[in-house]
Order: sequence, then C-alpha cells, then structure tokens
Amino acid sequence: MKRMERAVATVVGSAVGDALGAPFEFGPEGAFSARFPEPGHGGEMCGGGGWEPGEATDDTQMAVLVAESLHQRGGLDLPDIFARFQRWAAGGPKDIGLQTEDVLTNGMPWDLAAATHFQINQQAAGNGSLMRASTSAVYFASAGQSATMDAARRIAALTHGDAAAWEGTAVFHELIRRTLAGADPRTAVPDILELVHPDHRQRYATVLADDWHPDQATEFNGAVWPCLGTAVWALRSTTGFEEAIRAAVDVGGDTDTVAAVTGGLAGAWYGLDAIPARWTEPLHVPLPGFDGRVLALGDLIELAQRLGTSV
Ligand SMILES: [Mg+2]
Repeated sequence: MKRMERAVATVVGSAVGDALGAPFEFGPEGAFSARFPEPGHGGEMCGGGGWEPGEATDDTQMAVLVAESLHQRGGLDLPDIFARFQRWAAGGPKDIGLQTEDVLTNGMPWDLAAATHFQINQQAAGNGSLMRASTSAVYFASAGQSATMDAARRIAALTHGDAAAWEGTAVFHELIRRTLAGADPRTAVPDILELVHPDHRQRYATVLADDWHPDQATEFNGAVWPCLGTAVWALRSTTGFEEAIRAAVDVGGDTDTVAAVTGGLAGAWYGLDAIPARWTEPLHVPLPGFDGRVLALGDLIELAQRLGTSV
C-alpha cells in the first residue's frame, strides 16, 4: 500500500470514527452493537444526540484547524494554531471539551493559558489533545521520530498543561509515523514506550500492554491513558477497520474520541479501501467561527493529501 493512501486514511479514518461515535457519547457499553448487530449491514452513520449523520465533532474540527495552520503557515506556528482554536471556540461549536474551552477563553496568552489552567486545577490529562492529532501526525511523520514526537507535545501543550497528555499524543504521532512507513502498529508499542518521558512511562506501559482490556481502566475514558489504551486494544483485538471501530464505540463513554483515535490508527494500517464508503460518503466537518465553512469528504481528502506531501 502506498504511503499516501495510508496518510489520507489516517485523517479520514479518524473523522469517520468521530462521526460514528458521536451519537453514542456517554452511552453504555455495547450500545452500538445492540443497535447494529450485524457488521457490514449499513445504517450505522445514524446521527443523533444533536449530530447529523456523518457530522464530525470537535475532534475532527480541531484536527482540521491544525492541518490548515500547518499547511498555510508552512510549518509549526503555535500562536497561529492557538488563535484558530480561539476563533473556533468563539464560533460556538456544538461540543467543546471543558478544559479546552476554559484554556481558550481565559484571556491568557497562547504560551501561558494551558499552564495556568493546570496550575489552578491540577487536572489536565483529558484526551482533548490526543483526539485532534491525526492531521499533525501525518504532517510530521516524514520529519522523523524526534521531530514528530516533539511537535505532538508542543501542539498538545497549547490546551493541556499536564505532560501526561503530551506523552499520549506523542505516542500516537509515533505510532502513525511507523505505520505510514509500513510497520505494524500493533507490535510497535514496546519500542515507542522507550521514547515516553520516564515520569509517564509506567502508566502508558500499563494501558498499552498486550493483555490490557478497557474493563481494567482506572479512569473514565475521557482521560488520555484509557483513551489511547482502548484505541490500541480495539486495533489489536480485531482484524479490520470496521470491526475496530465497532469495538471502540462499543466500549461506551467518550465514544466519539475513542473511535476517532482508533480510526486514525486503523485507517493508517488498513488503508482507505478498508473504510466502508457508506461511512465516508456522508462525512462533513463544520468549522464554526470560519464563515460557515463545512468540509466535505473531498475537501478532507485533499487536505490530507497536502499534509502527506508537505514535509
Ligand atoms: Mg467530540
């Protein structure tokens, strides 16, 4: 499979997971397969809970904002990404993480807002930086291991002051980098754990272990550790894109984000042809705050292609 196909499928796969999981957010375990018992049957991109069928949520919306900044600025311009996030937050998105909203609206400058929030709240290890990482992971993949992990940490730090969120996002970037190069993400974990900051390594080693199951999570999967752990578990415990996404949404909880992270990994590994067309065709990504723009599937593919060639 060509690298570019994997790159596009990373971005599209993540958006598909986001849109499929959104109607099931905060629902119970097994809700997806109770409603859609047969894989391959159709109708799964159902909308609900305020979401249209195929409508991507904040996860993909923020990933697109990062992508457009990287592309238009010709590289990593952190104040520019932060300004785009702020403009989007002010545009009234249907969903926005509590912590992300506070950081983007607390009036602090880009390089102090997240750190200040963390100092006051002491809890900032949500999955909100991991959820939007598909586009930056594709963009920085060809820059190499340390460059992509460094970029992941810095983009995460714009909204998340807790280094645990930076490390989880960096692991995702490195998983995508290796997968785009043709490596199997399901066996890449031990090597990547060596690259995690020592203060955070053990917690990631626990949730990324071969025998870890989402039932063993010690936090709600809106936290970065079980979110990443569940995505890797969904990939490991299944054999195709559709099956992996079904497993991820079926875990319940923060279903759009867990499925968005799973969809990025599964897209990179299985490629675009493995993503059902009935899931990609209705995809659309509204961008609140940006003059009513809504990206359709073709726009998302074009954006991913630009990211895949730009470093
Ligand atoms: Mg969301």
